[in-house]
Amino acid sequence: MYINFRDQQLFSIFQKLQHGEHLSLEDGLVLFKTNDLISLGKMANFVQQQKSGDAVYFVLNQKIEHTNVCVLSCKFCDFAKKKGEPDAYEMTTENILAHITPEIREVHITGGMPPDWEWERYLDIVRGIHEKFPEAGTYITGNLKPWYEKHSDLKSGNKLIIEMLEQRRKYKLTIGK
Ligand code: SF4
Repeated sequence: MYINFRDQQLFSIFQKLQHGEHLSLEDGLVLFKTNDLISLGKMANFVQQQKSGDAVYFVLNQKIEHTNVCVLSCKFCDFAKKKGEPDAYEMTTENILAHITPEIREVHITGGMPPDWEWERYLDIVRGIHEKFPEAGTYITGNLKPWYEKHSDLKSGNKLIIEMLEQRRKYKLTIGK
């Protein structure tokens, strides 16, 4: 397969791929930083064709909006409610687990941030998913600002971050936004 590389750094990486060799961390950084996206796409297509031909696979994922109650009031948001408003809802861990089916491989949790939810409640959700569906990774997106404010002194802030990282490693947890 011929690729007209604009970024010549990609050439040696492509040679490795063609010989079935593992890429190094440095190779990964080159791929991450390159602006030669056409060549990058062609390399990715080459690898995909080697692995599975014309078959295409998808990860089955499920989005769970655990609550619409939110301590913040982002201007663009048409989703959030304040606690006590008629349409406000908050799911328990059991509610969430009841929505997940065994074939799911990724659970995306996104929604509001109730002012009175302790960090432990989020961990309980992740633990519950991990125990009942060990094949599924869990991704939480949301604005963590309230917890940083709550744990605003450096010591407990560090503790919170360490806890997040530990849980992330343990439960394949990704925290974003
Ligand atoms: S943090 Fe999210 S749910 Fe809360 S108000 Fe902002 S956009 Fe809405």
